[in-house]
Amino acid sequence: MSVTTGTDARALAAGFLDGSDLSALGLLVSPEYGGAARGYQEFGQVCRLIAASSPSRQALLTVHAMVCRAVQRWGNEQLRSAHLPQLATGQRIAAFALSEETAGSDIQNLSIACEPEADGWSLTGSKHWVTYGRAADVFLVFAGTERGAVALLVDSDTPGVQVEECPRTSGFAEAELGTIRFDGCRVPSSRQVGRTGSALAHVATDALLLGRLAVAFASLGLAQAGLRAATERAVARHPSGHALHERQLVRGLLADAAVAVHGAEDLCRRAADSMQDRGEWLIQDVLIAKLAASRAATLATSVAAQIAGAAGLLDGSPVDRMVRDARVYEVIEGNTQLLQDLVAGQVIARHRSGVDDD
Ligand SMILES: Cc1cc2nc3c(=O)[nH]c(=O)nc-3n(C[C@H](O)[C@H](O)[C@H](O)COP(=O)(O)OP(=O)(O)OC[C@H]3O[C@@H](n4cnc5c(N)ncnc54)[C@H](O)[C@@H]3O)c2cc1C
Repeated sequence: MSVTTGTDARALAAGFLDGSDLSALGLLVSPEYGGAARGYQEFGQVCRLIAASSPSRQALLTVHAMVCRAVQRWGNEQLRSAHLPQLATGQRIAAFALSEETAGSDIQNLSIACEPEADGWSLTGSKHWVTYGRAADVFLVFAGTERGAVALLVDSDTPGVQVEECPRTSGFAEAELGTIRFDGCRVPSSRQVGRTGSALAHVATDALLLGRLAVAFASLGLAQAGLRAATERAVARHPSGHALHERQLVRGLLADAAVAVHGAEDLCRRAADSMQDRGEWLIQDVLIAKLAASRAATLATSVAAQIAGAAGLLDGSPVDRMVRDARVYEVIEGNTQLLQDLVAGQVIARHRSGVDDD
């Protein structure tokens, strides 16, 4: 298994966090279009390090990378060369607009209207919960048509597009969530990513695979931060003359969190290697990593909050924010119950194909 944590990833994460260096946005983009074409381990480590400080900020890297991947993999050469160079350097920011009011987990249920025009499409309807939707220059928008779903790259200043603030969520509070409304917005066919009818099965599914890997590593970063906060408090606090870390029940909390964090770390590395090698079971590896890491984040941050006592309940305190951000990871890029269902499907497929899991 390759290990690529190091000063490079740390420097990239630090630059991304303080805004001085946005090159992390082009980490996976081909050099032909101005990107760095680095591996998934390094991408994952950068996601992990950023999320340990700011899950909201890391969310930009997730959605931007998903759009870059979609354009690079499914767009034609004209689309790639027109858009990827500015996206790879962070000159332009991209957001991923799939969810609708009645289509969250159920992406087959898109209701936004997309009518054919002479040389393109006309969009009417709205997209909800778009991460960095209020900051993005361009959206990758998914819509159903009579011939199946399409994916369209739409600039935020296109006539007929209106960006509104979403109701504030308790987690990802700084992720600039937006509602994007389209009112007869005309999008030329040159802005279409992939073929008509393949947008959900290919473009969205493939982008979500990368999104799940990014969220797995981000969850791991948050879980590690939670465990660190819990340990610091257990060592520093001495109620009734005894350090908290001497109490067996507190030690049990720390141990359970550590087991979850270490397990998630191994699963994330395995998933990144699987993505790199395009392993036969890469979908299963990514699903399991996201499921385990997001649960590890929930566990480790709630242990941190428990050990913090009343301080952990202070509205907006670091631990309180961690708990709220961890909740988001169990909802986005496939909620926990949906992922359990998908993992079970993969386990059954593996069994039927005669693969031995020894
Ligand atoms: C902070 C934040 C950022 C987001 N960013 C984006 C973004 O950038 N782009 C975007 O397109 N969307 C984004 N979303 C939307 C997100 O993808 C959806 O919220 C998510 O897909 C869940 O959809 P939903 O909220 O409609 O919940 P529902 O689909 O109604 O699901 C609610 C609950 O029902 C259960 N459930 C649902 N489906 C199943 C199933 N098949 N099997 C078992 N149980 C199930 C789960 O417990 C689930 O949590 C964001 C959401 C949040 C909160």
